[in-house]
Amino acid sequence: MTISCDTLPQGTLNVEQAQAHILASIPVLQASEHVTLWQAQGRILAETVSAPLDVPPHRNSAMDGYALRHADLTTTTPLNVIGTAFAGRPFAGAVQPSECVRIMTGAVVPDGTDSVVMQENVQRDGDTIRLTATLQAGENVRHPGEDMRTGDAVLQAGHKLNAADLGLLASLGIGEVSVLRRPRVAFCSTGDELKGIGETLQPGDIYDSNRYTLYGLLQKLDVEIIDLGVVKDTPEAVEHAFQQAMQLADILITSGGVSVGEADYVAATLQRLGQVNFWKIAMKPGKPLAFGTLGQGFFFGLPGNPVSVMATFLLFLRPAILRMRGESVPVVPEYPAICDTPLKKAAGRKDYQRGICQRDASGQWRVSSTGGQGSHILRSMSQANCFIALPLEWGNVEAGTTVSIIPFEGLL
Ligand code: AMP
Ligand code: MG
Repeated sequence: MTISCDTLPQGTLNVEQAQAHILASIPVLQASEHVTLWQAQGRILAETVSAPLDVPPHRNSAMDGYALRHADLTTTTPLNVIGTAFAGRPFAGAVQPSECVRIMTGAVVPDGTDSVVMQENVQRDGDTIRLTATLQAGENVRHPGEDMRTGDAVLQAGHKLNAADLGLLASLGIGEVSVLRRPRVAFCSTGDELKGIGETLQPGDIYDSNRYTLYGLLQKLDVEIIDLGVVKDTPEAVEHAFQQAMQLADILITSGGVSVGEADYVAATLQRLGQVNFWKIAMKPGKPLAFGTLGQGFFFGLPGNPVSVMATFLLFLRPAILRMRGESVPVVPEYPAICDTPLKKAAGRKDYQRGICQRDASGQWRVSSTGGQGSHILRSMSQANCFIALPLEWGNVEAGTTVSIIPFEGLL
């Protein structure tokens, strides 16, 4: 029998179903705040911005050269240079027939003139010039409002501000914008075996690494990050952390303690404070995932294994956070590549194996496995530059097969 999404065991979701459920549950934060342009990079506009003035505000020169009357060029008579127009220091007088003005880029094109000849196309002799090339009427003159006109809706509500937009707003004289509030995301690690850096490891202990990984992943998403530390495996400690998160955060992320059996106190606490589903997801790494509401906020219980944390964060939390902060494209793109190594895989779950991809000399993308694929082998993530995403129904993969890769560029 072939295994497909339709034949998953009861209570198991495939990746796409879980993603769809999560995205359908997460609202865009509606609250907004004012920030200066210095803080506005990457933020989502809460209101449409209209231009309060024309840009450019005045007719100006696109070149260093001479502003002149195009009609004067019908004769071969030289033109008299009667003054200079600098950017920010306009020429005061009016220009009469057979006269011209030396002009710099950005300077106001003087009254009476209509065209600018670049200085390279001019032969200057004392205070007169002759053109050495033809010139179109109106050439090298930039007009008011050519970039933006007063009243134009130049940036729409919901737009994510980038470096170009910051300059555009500044060119309009706008120094503050209304943007959506950033999600507040709290996170903690759970586990009695976890020690902080600097502490001595007792038999059975390991250092808590997930908090550092999560912190790094969250930094990539421009959210307010709230570190709740390491939470011991006791009902009191879990309850305390969850209460704190409910006060402070829109989203709480935990790692560890969501595998079936050991997590009863987590489940019990969540049952009291919120509405959380414990899912089995048909994926590797990262099978168990808890998702639901906690007070006014949302709860994501990630598995404990470090690679599972990263995979589930990228597949489920990242889109959720992007949605919450008002971004429109929460889909992680996949690209085809030829796989150069054979891959072990069991049918019935989607695999996110760690790969190293590169383009070969012919321009073809190729990928190879990083080796050991255990969900505890964090080094596989560190060495990899992509996931190799293998469909649920596939079994082992032969070398030479075309597979889908998800590059980590911009994600980690
Ligand atoms: P759990 O989901 O709590 O059963 O944890 C699964 C595995 O992940 C165990 O081997 C844990 O020791 C490990 N683990 C859990 N939390 C962390 C953490 N914060 N840092 C590193 N490893 C962890
Ligand atoms: Mg644990």
